[in-house]
Amino acid sequence: MYFKGSVVPGLFFANFFEDKLLTNTMGKDRQIDVTVLGSGTSQGVPVIGCQCEVCQSKNPKDKRLRSSIMFSYGKENFVVDTGPDFRQQMLREDVRSLRAVLYTHSHKDHIAGMDDVRSFNFLEKRDMELYCNTDVEEALKREFYYAFEANKYPGVPNVNINLIDTEPFQLPDGPRVLPILVYHYKMPVFGFRIGDFAYLTDVKSIPQKEFEKLRGVKYLILDCLRERPHLSHLNVEEALDIVDALSPEQTYLTHISHLFDTHENIEEKLPKSVSPAYDGLKLSFVYNSDEN
Ligand SMILES: [Zn+2]
Ligand SMILES: [Zn+2]
Repeated sequence: MYFKGSVVPGLFFANFFEDKLLTNTMGKDRQIDVTVLGSGTSQGVPVIGCQCEVCQSKNPKDKRLRSSIMFSYGKENFVVDTGPDFRQQMLREDVRSLRAVLYTHSHKDHIAGMDDVRSFNFLEKRDMELYCNTDVEEALKREFYYAFEANKYPGVPNVNINLIDTEPFQLPDGPRVLPILVYHYKMPVFGFRIGDFAYLTDVKSIPQKEFEKLRGVKYLILDCLRERPHLSHLNVEEALDIVDALSPEQTYLTHISHLFDTHENIEEKLPKSVSPAYDGLKLSFVYNSDEN
């Protein structure tokens, strides 16, 4: 698996990557492109009405929508979570097709935008496939009850829930995904590993058995709310401990609060292999279907 650091300063492996990809077009290797849709904590950044330096920053990298990523595999797009900014994120990235949604957990900043999957229902004339645990299923059925009624009002979202646990699962027309069970204080949350890439948002602790599933990961997007400790999120020190234990080639911190710092200042404080994520960040890796 090779990193294509086209938008990441200091990582210019593009030529090497392209060469490698060409030799593999007949094999099982396939490029997966990841886009950070949102890198902000539950309130987003800026926070409504806040006058702090971060919220007043003119740097576009300090504008953080609620945390979510998209990954593209061939012609298919998949997103992890549909937060309150889902519609805006789909418009910003000009997404015209969406194959499935994977959910990490049921908190509002991760599910609130589910209603807008109906745009894809209209466009693609099929149900949206949702992958989640029973806790998320319950929350979706409560908050979007109208999408689950026997006689549905025309135009409501059409979704199909696929329950997942800690076993790997196959996405339709996509890669295999390995769920990593982590804890957001006491709440179980899923991280997801695809080949050498893993996405872990809203995490405070990781059981040892689940941590082992992250060994060998090369590209990691990891929760890191701020510098001061927090009950249910990793702070910088805790996030860097995980980075030390796993030694990924590149780590991006996400779910960032306005209490952390400006993007520029955060970047200066971190080791070279760790950067703050930002909305619109893209990274690519080669996925081999024999993995996971
Ligand atoms: Zn969250
Ligand atoms: Zn602020």
